[in-house]
Order: sequence, then structure tokens, then C-alpha cells
Amino acid sequence: MSTPYRGRFAPSPTGPLHFGSLVSALASYLDAKKHHGKWIIRIEDVDGTRCKTSFSKQITDTLNSYHLFSDETVRVQSQHTEMYEQLLSVLRKQQAIFPCNCTRQSLAQHNGGHPFVCESSLDQPHSWRLKTSLAAYQCQDSIQGTLRFTDDLKNNCPVLKRKDGYFSYQLAVVIDDHQQNITHLVRGADLIDTTAQQLHLYHLFGWTPPSICHIPLITNHSGDKISKQNHAKPIQDNNLSTLLRALHYLKIDLESPLSIAEALSLAIEAWDPNKLKGMKHLSLEEQDLHFI
Ligand code: GLU
Repeated sequence: MSTPYRGRFAPSPTGPLHFGSLVSALASYLDAKKHHGKWIIRIEDVDGTRCKTSFSKQITDTLNSYHLFSDETVRVQSQHTEMYEQLLSVLRKQQAIFPCNCTRQSLAQHNGGHPFVCESSLDQPHSWRLKTSLAAYQCQDSIQGTLRFTDDLKNNCPVLKRKDGYFSYQLAVVIDDHQQNITHLVRGADLIDTTAQQLHLYHLFGWTPPSICHIPLITNHSGDKISKQNHAKPIQDNNLSTLLRALHYLKIDLESPLSIAEALSLAIEAWDPNKLKGMKHLSLEEQDLHFI
């Protein structure tokens, strides 16, 4: 018997939900429901300097107003830091990570990368970085095709725990997806670049990674992702026409459904990731410019 499908949407609460995030939330939801699976919301608020509880509430309220309800209690990463600490020590015992007290200025000479192991003293304030690796990974992305990562880890030592004590997205996302038995990740193509590091962490922990696929990013006229950094506007709650426009970018065009509930159930039937095959970007159409 195959493992039951468990998918998730994992927003970082650094602002309210915008149009691009609604499209991502819908893709993960539709894929889960098409497979008769569970869909779980997880709040990725490990970065205490950028995340706010008020945004977590606002995001879940907005998702719920679009009838996107988590099938399990919403998990909040900041409540699981003890577990991240324990698993960081597993990596430490394996000598897969090293303490680092480099400054931004010292790293600037290396284009922001970290091509060496600095082995700072544990007495000084330090971050924990993953050691470089020559490992190569690949994954079969049902939308983007085979993703091959060969040199991604060679000159790269991502921070897993910051000097200020906050854990990184990379560490927390892998631990939570594993702990929550997530079987499928459906997320934006901007996260393709994070995949090699995540596969490496799965390998180090001895865990099987979920199946991973990346939907195209919605971009503005300059080709930039619609994002909070680019000042994307919050979407209105409970708005059927916003939902229909978001579904349009997932190649689902519905004829005048009467309600959000009806639109969602028609969209589950219509969802076909093959229609997005190979697409990394979709430009926001003229009529949708008010979303940014
Ligand atoms: N929290 C991440 C973000 O908001 C998404 C993580 C993921 O889907 O892997 O960009």
C-alpha cells in the first residue's frame, strides 16, 4: 500500500498573504486534494527578527476565507526550537557543521559565500554552518523535470543556526517536513535553489526526502517575483474573483462558479500539473496588475 499523501503550505509570516502566495497555497492544496490527501498549514516563523504573530493570524485567516483549511493543527516553527537544537547536535556529532564567526564584511570578499571552514572558537558568538560537500543530488520534479545539483554544495556553507540564536529556514524546513511525515512538497520555483541543501540534510540525517515539485513563479513586468520584498499588496479576503484569477495561473479557467467552495471543488477536478510542465515563470497579466 502506498503512503498516504500529506502536503503542506508553509508561509513565513513576514507580511500578509499576497497574490503570488495564494497561487502557491492553491497549488499545494489542489495537489493534495486531487490525491485525496491531507493538506497542512505550517507557519515558518524561525526568523524572529522578521516574522510577526499578527501576520501568522492574518495569513491563516485569509487562507480560511478562501476555504483553505489546515487538516491538522497549524504547526508553528518557533514552538519547536528544542527539537531543532537536538537535531543540530546530531549534525555536530557527525562533524557535518562548524562554528563560524565571520562577519558580513569578511565574507564580502567571497561574494557572500563561505568557501572555507573557519573553525571559530566556541567561546565567541558564532553561527553554525554546514560544511561544503562534493555530493551531487537529483530529484524528479513532476513540473520542472529532472533537477540535477552537482556543484551546489561545493562552495557553499549555509548557516543552520545564526549568531543571534535563530535557526535557519533550511534546517527547520527539513526537520518539520520529516517530523510531519510530509510526502509531497509543491512550492514556488524560487525555492529550487534551496533544494540541494535540503536534500543534503536529508542525506545526513538518514531520512527519505519527500517528492518535490516547483510551480512557476508569478513575476511582475520587470521579471521579479511578486513578493513582500517587492511590496506586493495584501489580497482581500474571501473574494471569488481573486480566487478565479489565481487559478488562472495554475491553468484552471472556470466558468462562473457561484461560490468559493464550488470553485475549489471544480478546481480540484481540473488540476493538472502537466499543464505547467517546464514553466519557471508566468508574467502577471495586465488585468491583474492591481495585485502588486
Ligand atoms: N517558508 C518558505 C517561504 O515562505 C516556504 C518554504 C517551502 O515551501 O519549502 O518562502
